[in-house]
Amino acid sequence: LKGDRESLNPAEREIEKALRPLSFADFTGQAKVIENVSIFVQAAKQRSEPLDHVLLHGPPGLGKTTLSHIIANELKANLKITSGPVLDKPGDLAGLLTNLEPFDVLFIDEIHRLNPVVEEYLYSAMEDYRIDIMLDSGPSARSIQIDLNPFTLIGATTRAGLLTSPLRARFGINARLEYYDATLLTKIIKRSAEILQTPIEEDASYEIARRSRGTPRIANNLLRRTRDFAQIKGDGTITKPIAEMALSALDVDQNGLDEMDNRILTTIIDKFKGGPVGLSTIATACGEEAETIEEVYEPFLIQEGYIKRTSRGREATELAYKHLRIVPPTSKTR
Ligand code: ADP
Repeated sequence: LKGDRESLNPAEREIEKALRPLSFADFTGQAKVIENVSIFVQAAKQRSEPLDHVLLHGPPGLGKTTLSHIIANELKANLKITSGPVLDKPGDLAGLLTNLEPFDVLFIDEIHRLNPVVEEYLYSAMEDYRIDIMLDSGPSARSIQIDLNPFTLIGATTRAGLLTSPLRARFGINARLEYYDATLLTKIIKRSAEILQTPIEEDASYEIARRSRGTPRIANNLLRRTRDFAQIKGDGTITKPIAEMALSALDVDQNGLDEMDNRILTTIIDKFKGGPVGLSTIATACGEEAETIEEVYEPFLIQEGYIKRTSRGREATELAYKHLRIVPPTSKTR
């Protein structure tokens, strides 16, 4: 149920594709971002210029890839997709860049994980639509310049803070995607249910929405799983009781926290007296990677007020105690 795409099998990937909105008008939520970006796209098109480079940041599953598809669609340009860790050598990047047609969009997911050597090459490509390639080494080394077609780079990252400043400075447009509220997610779920041709009752879509960690990808995943329950345990219609049955079978609790969210909270409270405790210590105790906790779980737990980040580590809040039905120690004994 987590935000990562890698865990999807090919059939699920197909469904994810089918559920993807294709135009700005079809995209629910992120109103401010959509309003601004659609103006920048229109303006660039009118001037017959490439769109400025775009940096999209925010937790996984909020629509960064989707938005890149939409931007390319609206620009009537091709979209080439790659990711930071995949671009291992400068040659990989050069290959991609030299194949771009004028005004194409290159999407680099997880751009904070670019190899620094590859990143260097990106600077002149972004700035002057040019790359300098070194041929040979030693005394016969020389570099040749290759001119590129004007293009738009869209970089996506879950961790804007990890971007180097020279790279960050080369993005003219910088947009942060926020978690979605339950009303927006209800709308997204109803739209997806329609595409999947699954009848769903209003209160059922709201129930799934409010327990989807503010994330469209999770909302869609939960919708698909509840659809299975409706098919096997009901008459095919997703009703609220069916949704509740499915959500509890999937270990999504009443407040929409999943098993790992709860494990993190329980660990901080039971093993570390409510904190403060360091991220890597929590990670080891929970059997999850520190990076995943920081990028996927923690932002939501912080936003919802279950944990606090302090200079000395993570602390469980009163809300976390209440959620787990544990009596918090008084401030004197802590
Ligand atoms: P990210 O790149 O930020 O990890 P994606 O763009 O891959 O997220 O979105 C994950 C899934 O959620 C997609 O399948 C898409 O259909 C759905 N989705 C994301 N944002 C929206 C939205 N605003 N409206 C409808 N569906 C959305």
